Formats: sequence, C-alpha cells, structure tokens
Amino acid sequence: MPGSSDCFSPDFRPAPYWWEASPQEPEKAVSLPSTADVVIIGAGYTGLHAAIQTARAGLETVVVDAEAAGFGCSTRNGGQISTSVKPSYSTLRKRYGDDLAVSILKEGQASLDHVTGFVGDEGIDCDFGVVGRFHGAHTAGQYEKLARDCDVRHPGFVTGAWMVPREKQHAELGTDAYHGGIVFPRHASLDPGKYHAGLLRVARSAGASVIGHCRVNDLARTPQGFEVFTGKGRIRAGKVIVATNGYTGSLTPWQQRRVIPIGSYVIATEEIPADVMDRLFPTNRILSDTRKLVYYYRPSPDRKRILFGGRVSLQETDPRKSGPKLLAELVRLFPELARVRISHSWTGIVAFTFDTLMHCGEEGGLFYAMGYCGSGVGMAGYLGSRIGKAAAGIDPDLGAFSRIPFETRPFYTGKPWFLGPSVAVYRLRDRLGV
Ligand SMILES: Cc1cc2nc3c(=O)[nH]c(=O)nc-3n(C[C@H](O)[C@H](O)[C@H](O)COP(=O)(O)OP(=O)(O)OC[C@H]3O[C@@H](n4cnc5c(N)ncnc54)[C@H](O)[C@@H]3O)c2cc1C
Repeated sequence: MPGSSDCFSPDFRPAPYWWEASPQEPEKAVSLPSTADVVIIGAGYTGLHAAIQTARAGLETVVVDAEAAGFGCSTRNGGQISTSVKPSYSTLRKRYGDDLAVSILKEGQASLDHVTGFVGDEGIDCDFGVVGRFHGAHTAGQYEKLARDCDVRHPGFVTGAWMVPREKQHAELGTDAYHGGIVFPRHASLDPGKYHAGLLRVARSAGASVIGHCRVNDLARTPQGFEVFTGKGRIRAGKVIVATNGYTGSLTPWQQRRVIPIGSYVIATEEIPADVMDRLFPTNRILSDTRKLVYYYRPSPDRKRILFGGRVSLQETDPRKSGPKLLAELVRLFPELARVRISHSWTGIVAFTFDTLMHCGEEGGLFYAMGYCGSGVGMAGYLGSRIGKAAAGIDPDLGAFSRIPFETRPFYTGKPWFLGPSVAVYRLRDRLGV
C-alpha cells in the first residue's frame, strides 16, 4: 500500500540499484594542476565523452565534479536508449522547416549509433543490448495517433517501427492496461553504472584527470581563457566546457536560465521468480507509455527485478515517499505483483528545456551541451563528443542542436515555480486521455 513501510524489503536502500555493482568512488587526496588546456565541469556522460575527445587530441584535460564522478543522472538513470528527440517529425517541420527537422531527427539516430559504436569499440562491459522498446498506448486515441505517426515516412530517417494491436499485446508485455502499442526495434538498454565506470576508465586512459568532490565555485574570464576557482584550488584553463545538465547552477547563469531542473524517480523491486518475469516481459524490451507523465520500466540486466521509473508527485519529494507511489503504478499495470516489495528507491535531476530539445554551443567563451529532457543516455555522450571535438578544434560544426535558439522565458531564473501546476495539468490530461 502506498505510504506503508511493508512495501520495502528488509535490505531496502534509498540509493540507486546500479550503485551495488558500481559504487561511487570515495574522495581521494589529489593535487589539482595549476593549468590545463581544457577544464570540464561535470563528470557525467557529457563531460567524460568531451574529455575523451580533448585528451585524445593531446590537450591537457581536467574534469571536475562537485560530488563523486557520476553522482548526477549518469549513474541514476533507467538505462534506456532511444533516439532522444521528443517532438515528432510533423511538429519539428512546422517549427523549423523540413531541412532542419530532418537534421534534428538524424542527430537522434546518430546519438543511438554513437553509443552503440562506442560501447563496442571501447569494449565497455555494461550489459548493452539492442532489445527494442515497446511503447504502450494508454488510450485508444493514443494508439491511433501512434499508428498515424508510424505511417509518416521520410527518406532521411528510418525507425523500422511497427504497431502491435491490443489483442497481440501479451506477446510483448503481460498487461491488459494498454490499448496496444508500437515497437521501436533499434532502441537499446545498458547498465548505466557500469557504462559510467567504463567511460571513466577510457577517459583516464586517454590522459584526462577526473577529480571528484571538487566543486567549481567561480569562473573569471582572462585574456588566455578562464580562471576556474574550485573547492580544491584554482586552475588557469584555456577552454572550459560546462557539462552540468540538471545540476546546472548559478555558476553559469545563462545556461541556468535555459534549463528546467526536474526530479525523476525510480524503484527496483526485490527479486521476482523467473516464470513471472518471463510471463510479464517475454521479449526483454525496454518499456514506456504515451502519458505526458511517462512511466519507463524494464527488467534488470539479470532479469531478476523490475526497474520502474516516472514522476509521481507535484513537488520534489523523498525517495521513501516516491517509492510506494511508483510501486502502486507498477501493480496497476501488473496486478499479480501486489505482494512484491521495493529494494531500492532513488531520484536524480534531469534538465528539461522550453522547446523540449537538447542544446549545445558556445556562449561567453564557454562550451556547453545540456537539456536532454530525460533522454540523455545516448544523446549526452554524442553531444559531449561533439562539444569536445569543437573545443579541441577538431570539428567546429556542432550540428543541428546548435542551430536552434536556446530559449528562456521572461523572469525565469532556473527555479521552476510552474512545475507543480504543470504536473497537475499533465496528470489531469493523462487521466482524461487527451
Ligand atoms: C531517475 C532518472 C532516470 C533516467 N532515465 C533515463 C533513461 O532511461 N534513458 C535516458 O536516455 N535518459 C535517462 N535519464 C537522463 C540521463 O541520465 C541524463 O540525461 C544524462 O545522464 C545526463 O548526463 P550529463 O553528464 O549531462 O549530466 P549528469 O550525469 O547529471 O552530470 C552532471 C554533473 O555536474 C556536476 N556539477 C554540477 N555543478 C557543478 C559545479 N559547480 N562544479 C562541479 N561539478 C558540478 C554534478 O555533480 C553532476 O555530477 C534519467 C535521469 C534520471 C535522473
């Protein structure tokens, strides 16, 4: 029952399930270099992919993170990899015209190809698999809309998607809660903690210094670049890359005014019998649905647990409070799980944007990539790589996401006062099926 302590297993931890196999690095005594060619702020997927590019280009690269490397979303996410671009082709075409719309969608495909290639080329052991996604329609109208979008073809991009009607749904997922859905066969999954640990290894062996527990408190422009003032000392840097996504703060006010920090919440269940897992998740796909307040879920890589995520409260809350609410949604989808308990419950801060697209570029001499709108497992690495190549002078072209305006709103300073009312409206629309 929501709110009941009975729904937690005896070994419950209010921390990411992924941290069991990939614990956060403890703080180490390090001496900070006094100069660097490139300083990167944030040691998640964006920052580490950027660092691999700059370090491999022969630039002295220092990555700093306010907490342990990977403390942010990059070790907290659901491990689901899509093409990351939320607006449909028709919406993008109306906003930007055909050429830019197609370029944006191609960037989405490129991000999926990038992570697939990177994990294979670098030999990262992170339970990566192209398992495909089943995206369930929560109303009959949403099923029709998915079918219409599935029919829109363009020579520039290929999803390979197909529709699954309600009567055949059990071949994909053991629930009657959806009105059918769509399968995206190219979508993939991985263990985010192991992926981040592998990235750390690759970045360090490329020559980058990655220093945790080292918050950047101030930045000052100099004729040669920047002075970076951290909790462990000052670094003179030629270039600075901002890779702070949902954790972007007043250090970079221009970026802070353009991202909307929103908590996302996940639970892991205790172990579930193999026959139940096989019945509920026969295809091992990653799952999501058509709600505005989307639920995303999947079997754990060893297929013993379910990882179930979403947004269950108007305001940010404690994982001990969000856990039972997520469990109630899980049981609504799969009533036979009524007695299952929660082993882990956690949260992290994602960065939404006013146009629901990610952005990268250079502003005031600072390179940045952020605003993944909750879909950054593939895209953060892809844009991190691009921003790293641009900072290293290898490839100045930052692609389609640098060619669209990174919007803010009057009086918005980075504190989303409108979050509670927006969540309430979305919740109502989801209930009404509009
Ligand atoms: C619960 C949850 C589930 C998610 N599920 C999915 C999913 O299934 N699929 C998907 O594609 N995406 C998912 N995401 C989103 C995805 O994880 C992110 O988009 C991605 O990890 C962003 O990576 P990043 O490197 O840009 O930012 P982060 O990994 O968040 O790293 C930013 C870092 O910046 C550091 N920082 C901030 N300020 C400073 C400072 N002043 N000095 C030094 N360091 C600083 C922070 O400590 C933090 O570690 C999820 C996110 C969450 C929270």
